[in-house]
Amino acid sequence: MGNQKVIIAGAGATGLTTALALAQAGCRVTVIGKSVAPPPTRTVALWGASVRLLDNIGIWQSARAFAEPLLAMRILDATGSLFKLPPVEFRAAELGLPGFGFNISNADLVAVLLASVKADKRITLHDSLVRKITPQPPFITVESDDETLHEAALLVGAEGSQSPSRQAAGIKQRQWQYPQVAVTAVLQHRCPHHHVSTEFHTRSGPCTLVPMLSLPDAPYRSGLVWLMDPPEAARRTALSHSDFATELEAMTQSVLGALTIEGQLGSFPMRGMSVERFGQNRTMLVGEAAHAFPPIGAQGLNLGLRDVAALAEIVSSANASAQDCGSDAMTQNYHRSRNSDVALRTAGVDVLNRSLLAPYLPVDFLRGAGLMALASIAPLRRAVMRVGLAPQALPPLMRAPQGPAKAFDRRDAAQNHQTARR
Ligand SMILES: Cc1cc2nc3c(=O)[nH]c(=O)nc-3n(C[C@H](O)[C@H](O)[C@H](O)COP(=O)(O)OP(=O)(O)OC[C@H]3O[C@@H](n4cnc5c(N)ncnc54)[C@H](O)[C@@H]3O)c2cc1C
Repeated sequence: MGNQKVIIAGAGATGLTTALALAQAGCRVTVIGKSVAPPPTRTVALWGASVRLLDNIGIWQSARAFAEPLLAMRILDATGSLFKLPPVEFRAAELGLPGFGFNISNADLVAVLLASVKADKRITLHDSLVRKITPQPPFITVESDDETLHEAALLVGAEGSQSPSRQAAGIKQRQWQYPQVAVTAVLQHRCPHHHVSTEFHTRSGPCTLVPMLSLPDAPYRSGLVWLMDPPEAARRTALSHSDFATELEAMTQSVLGALTIEGQLGSFPMRGMSVERFGQNRTMLVGEAAHAFPPIGAQGLNLGLRDVAALAEIVSSANASAQDCGSDAMTQNYHRSRNSDVALRTAGVDVLNRSLLAPYLPVDFLRGAGLMALASIAPLRRAVMRVGLAPQALPPLMRAPQGPAKAFDRRDAAQNHQTARR
């Protein structure tokens, strides 16, 4: 049973990370997916556990060149609620950490992963799409668009929201919509961000500015994720870039000074999705094939990478004990390992998002009381930060013998010191 064959459907961030993790676990891996990086309209904030995973599969040093450290996060109330709420600031230093993590353009992350997968002799990258999937125990057969047949002990579904693997495995899903669109952009700005991510809570959802890597001709850059109702999104994305920047600067109270838009705006309708099972019929689901919710608190890909780490642990121990990695026992193990983490994040983001959208005094009061408690009670703030970053028990690929400081270098520690003194 050693060197078991695994097919990964989807060459996005979670599919490519799974490929590298499973190759390292001793599997023969085929990735079926289009080898193109997504457009550079949005970024992903990766917390410490995700960075350790990328380090442990050998790609962090390459990705780090495109990533900006995140040392603090602040929430500012812009709902216009009757309760005037204090700003809340979360600092990594309060947890004794050199930083929370790093922000990187999704396109850069996928490009680095893709380059690593292409260079890895243990992985075959099949530049095509999955067309048909047939579980035929003790194997699963996948036909790609170019009519090639692939056979493996396990299929990992990483094709995002419309996952054919999920459908073929007979896994039921529940989908819901939010009356919101996330408008995204890469911004250049006049004032420094000090490695602080700023989230404005508005009546149509959060508007978040996340620090990005500087360029030689653009010393200060940030990623924008601005949730708003669909008609406003249509209106704002039709504006000229300079009019859009003027509206954004007013909304964000000029915290970053004058803004300019780099490249194109992105637009993502907000929805939620949860699955009944994370694995079944020789199939395990990772990333947005298994869960989706609005980008609040940077949970989505961090959760997807925890799927990958949990899956790699199960497949690795199946390899070590010569067991079939696609058996019912393994898919059930995987389901159990992911169920509560995913349910907690999906519900947490949903409640937070809806509390902003509901214009009712009692809801405002509860949200306000929560923010005030976070602003003034340090142990509560630390507990919320720990829960937000990751669960306590992490799979081996997300632990590092050297501790969480390993991914941060001396330059990051110096920036942290400066931010803490601000
Ligand atoms: C505006 C916004 C901001 C976000 N910010 C953050 C953040 O700061 N931090 C964070 O952790 N998360 C964030 N997220 C969430 C994060 O971006 C997603 O969780 C993540 O990109 C999902 O990756 P994935 O690989 O699972 O899916 P995808 O990125 O959707 O990749 C799926 C891949 O599968 C391919 N595919 C589709 N169909 C097939 C097929 N039939 N055969 C083969 N391949 C197929 C697709 O082409 C694609 O390459 C954000 C999301 C949004 C919308």
